[in-house]
Amino acid sequence: VPCGSGPWPARSGSATSVRVEAPGKVNLFLSVGAPGPDGYHPLTTVFQAVRLIETITARRQSAQALGEITLALEEPDDAVPTDASNLAVRAAHILAEATGVSEGVDLLVRKRVPVAGGMAGGSADAAAALVACNALWGTGLGTGELMSLASRLGADVPFPLLGSTAVGHGRGDMVTPLMARGTYQWVFALHHRGLSTPEVFARFDEMGAGRGGPQEVSEAMTVALRSGSPQALAACLHNDLQAAALDLRPELADVIAVAEAAGALRAIVSGSGPTVAALVADAAGAQRVARALMSSGLCAEALRADAPVAGARVVG
Ligand code: ATP
Repeated sequence: VPCGSGPWPARSGSATSVRVEAPGKVNLFLSVGAPGPDGYHPLTTVFQAVRLIETITARRQSAQALGEITLALEEPDDAVPTDASNLAVRAAHILAEATGVSEGVDLLVRKRVPVAGGMAGGSADAAAALVACNALWGTGLGTGELMSLASRLGADVPFPLLGSTAVGHGRGDMVTPLMARGTYQWVFALHHRGLSTPEVFARFDEMGAGRGGPQEVSEAMTVALRSGSPQALAACLHNDLQAAALDLRPELADVIAVAEAAGALRAIVSGSGPTVAALVADAAGAQRVARALMSSGLCAEALRADAPVAGARVVG
């Protein structure tokens, strides 16, 4: 960008604001092992980035306000903190600390991923904040360095940096891209009342479900993703946490049944729930399933989204 031209400031080559988009996710496969001595469950998961997109705009502050990291929501929501506990604020802090930046930033967040639905919206915000501040501050960290900061922020933060379809190991934070063809259509059934992730893992343990290490991604899943066939993918969707989530919230089984009766290829609990993810064959199927879910009275909202989509990227 030429210095002092157009909307850019005279400051050498640096913008006054940077806008970044990052996606929410669905887990196509989730296998959970027995917890280790640190209490964490080792897992193998396949993430797919869905077109429910968080947008973060990072704005440079006036010289008088140096050093503050602030956050505002485009549409205020009581369920989302705007203080230092917000994952995007923590992301900006961790980047500033790692790079020795003393400059502040004002973050503006537009949320489209449902809050506390097991779709990692907060993690997408953190990934977007890392990319936005890295560009705004000119800190120039590469993907590997951003990934390592991301995994310190949370197990689900590295994936939205990568986007598309990827396999996660460790706590889900060690991500590797997976070859996938085609576009998949999803309908997400949302619920007013969230499910606590630790509570679902505790029930998983009580049910004696996690023995030994997590399973690897099945050959059938990798073949299905390479084929681009939603029917083939539907047949190998898998979530080890589903039994525990259904045990805590039996009505989720009815949500799955409604989606499948309306023509979904398959419906499963997304991550630790309570969101139910229904894979459909096409746009007409998506409409039928969304209608059936809404008229069942079993869910608060039915959101349609296609996948996969790109990871966190600068859009303005
Ligand atoms: P989890 O990673 O626990 O599965 P989730 O994907 O179900 O999370 P999120 O919307 O990411 O749900 O966040 C869950 C909680 O984290 C929120 O209820 C909120 O209190 C807190 N939180 C912190 N930062 C954010 C953020 N930027 N957006 C949304 N929630 C946030």
